[in-house]
Amino acid sequence: MPDLEIPALCLVLLIGVPDDLRADFARRHFAPEEVQTSLEGASERLSRGLLTVLDAPHLRALERAGAAQLARDQNVQAVALVLDPPLTSSDMQTRQDVADLHRELGGHDSPGLRVEGFRAAHRLRSRAELDSVQLRRVPLKPDRRGLHGPFDLIGDVHGCLTELLSLLSGLGYTVSGALEVTAPAGRTAAFLGDLGDRGPDTPGVLRLVMGMVQSGTALCVQGNHDAKLLRALQGHPVRVTHGLEVSLEQLSYEPPEFGGAVRDFLAALPHHLLLDDGRLVAAHAGLPAHLQGRDSGRVWSFALYGDVERQGHDENGLPIRRDWAATYHGPALVAYGHTPVQQPRWKNRTVNLDTGCVFGGQLSALRYPELSTVSVPAQAAYREAGRALMEVGPEERGA
Ligand code: MN
Repeated sequence: MPDLEIPALCLVLLIGVPDDLRADFARRHFAPEEVQTSLEGASERLSRGLLTVLDAPHLRALERAGAAQLARDQNVQAVALVLDPPLTSSDMQTRQDVADLHRELGGHDSPGLRVEGFRAAHRLRSRAELDSVQLRRVPLKPDRRGLHGPFDLIGDVHGCLTELLSLLSGLGYTVSGALEVTAPAGRTAAFLGDLGDRGPDTPGVLRLVMGMVQSGTALCVQGNHDAKLLRALQGHPVRVTHGLEVSLEQLSYEPPEFGGAVRDFLAALPHHLLLDDGRLVAAHAGLPAHLQGRDSGRVWSFALYGDVERQGHDENGLPIRRDWAATYHGPALVAYGHTPVQQPRWKNRTVNLDTGCVFGGQLSALRYPELSTVSVPAQAAYREAGRALMEVGPEERGA
């Protein structure tokens, strides 16, 4: 049978009988410390960001739902492995357990487990499958810890192609007339999201960045504007405001296949990136330590929109954003954007690189590991800011 893929960080629920087969399976596929027998033990391991197997064959539906809830609380997926070979056992209790399990899981592909909150349920139905299956651990999309840079992290571009070209040139990148980019030796650009909307040339910025990502000279995370443009390109109903109307108008002059390429590009972007052995995080609106390197709706929402009040708006009618960086305690340096500031703002181990270019501010980059910033001034104020660019205190102006 083909390899069975599981996320490299997740909660695996190992169910099925009899005990000896399950123990043997666990021994062959997992390290002893990965296998936990209590929710408490599983919770403790997951909180440290480690793959965890919950070996608890006798969990009933209610407790299985508790395990799925634990995975949600830890912002990881829950995956069930159901070991279900034909039994030779004459043990009546075992036979009864199997019959109960089948009834609860609801038929041959275990739809019951999805109802209980498991992302995937894999069922192994024969001794041959049990013996031959290979588990392949697939790294989560944000997990690029193996990339060590050096990086040039670039804040919200919002369609400001002229300023982007000038910034790239200042960082040592060369750009051909056809917008093909050559990076200075060994360096990789990393865009912090919000490539488009409001500014004068969203298609140009997208074409440039898509080419860089394709050729390996850049990485990119998804910003809230990118997510909304994606939904529009997918044909979902969206409110065409906050500069999206500008992007859609500009894109309407492009060949139709370009819209499709943009859609595929935006859909593939990770919600954040974990780089350099976890020492550097790139996320559009920032990310606290307990969400870094994880994958859930909560992680996506924080990384794209930040720490937003559920209700209430500020004096400009915009959602209230909490200053998540003020209480950041993580060891990783977090590079982010999203909230325009007058100059790059350092707070704890975070740096905000959205210096409001599209509002007439600057376009900024952080060189990593040097930790120096490079900014170029906007050629114009392309849009009036919905709220004033945040002032940066003297103690927040350097690493
Ligand atoms: Mn933005």
